[in-house]
Amino acid sequence: MKILVINAGSSSLKYQLIDMDTHEVMAKGLCERIGMDGSNLQHTNVGKDEKTKIEAPMHDHSDAIRMVIDALVDEKIGVISSMDEIGAVGHRVVHGAEEFAASCLITEAVMKAIDKCTPLAPLHNPPNIIGIEACKKIMPGVPMVAVFDTAFHQTMPAKAYMYALPYEYYEKYGIRKYGFHGTSHKYVSQEAAKVLGKSPDELKIVTCHLGNGSSISAVDGGKCVDTSMGFTPLDGVPMGTRTGSMDPAVVTYLINTGMSAKEVDNLMNKKSGVQGVSGVSSDFRDLTAAANDGNDKAQLALDMFAYQVKKLIGAYAAAMGGLDAVVFTAGVGENDSATRSAIVSGLEFMGIKIDESKNAARGTVDISADGAAVKTLVIPTNEELMIAIDTERIVEGE
Ligand code: ADP
Repeated sequence: MKILVINAGSSSLKYQLIDMDTHEVMAKGLCERIGMDGSNLQHTNVGKDEKTKIEAPMHDHSDAIRMVIDALVDEKIGVISSMDEIGAVGHRVVHGAEEFAASCLITEAVMKAIDKCTPLAPLHNPPNIIGIEACKKIMPGVPMVAVFDTAFHQTMPAKAYMYALPYEYYEKYGIRKYGFHGTSHKYVSQEAAKVLGKSPDELKIVTCHLGNGSSISAVDGGKCVDTSMGFTPLDGVPMGTRTGSMDPAVVTYLINTGMSAKEVDNLMNKKSGVQGVSGVSSDFRDLTAAANDGNDKAQLALDMFAYQVKKLIGAYAAAMGGLDAVVFTAGVGENDSATRSAIVSGLEFMGIKIDESKNAARGTVDISADGAAVKTLVIPTNEELMIAIDTERIVEGE
């Protein structure tokens, strides 16, 4: 089966066509500036390693999907001969709240339930819904599946996801920890079990998704039992431009200095994190270069990041009552060996020790030192493939 994976944003739409026999990406691309001047499609035929940019008006997401299908079936740049070859579509949906603990086939009832989650992700769920509607219009009869960023975290126990506000704030507003990056945490924890030759049921794993946005999860027996992002993706470790956790009283303090709630929100999401502390960049490559040139604030930002990730590894080992493996993934986790090294240094007492010669490698790799009781793995994440795998499983009714 060939599965089209769609990730729709407010003015953009990313896609991949995946051949499920081989798990290979056949084509991928991005529609940009939907509904604006200068809209364009960037399409890659992966087999031919050929990139094409097509500039054409896209008034809405339906136009975008139509252009994607046209590119996929095009004689020159396409990879299939007809739309009928697409067996199913998997849609990334950001927030499934407590409505969705797993991926599911999209029906009218599911569309209503996704819409019900919109107040919790007002910037993300509406474009996801528009993307689904557009696909339904252009590809009627093709089964579609929704895969939620939050679903994998729905197995957390109440003691982990509740905030100590009066209980009615949970009941009335749904204020609790939801967690994000769930598709990535699920994928890399399952891949880690394969690498270790064990069933996920018998493993306690801490997965570290470290990218521009970062989150850490505790995965016990294949199920998430805690995660560092919370009610929103702002919580947890410091990120590219987000604060991560801090005393919530800072927010009221800043508002009392005369800042508006909107300004504080913007400050915490867009101007903080390693960029805010360093004043250099949100990109770890720039931070490392600056720190190596003697920039103390860049070094401080890197130290703060590694320290908070390290603390969570310890905390989650305590939460699970043991630890078999630590997994690093996403832009920083997959590529930044110095940051990985800084995170695990000092954790030898827990049985975590890496081999620096293995730590330099790329791809899926076990970087543990010989004899380390806890394995440390680097596993490239693949959210699109995870979406396609869930989609195939659901469409085939397994
Ligand atoms: P997103 O959260 O936007 O999906 P990614 O997972 O792609 O982000 O991570 C992007 C980040 O990964 C960059 O901002 C940069 O900090 C980091 N990164 C990417 N490549 C490298 C590298 N070779 N060395 C260090 N950091 C890297």
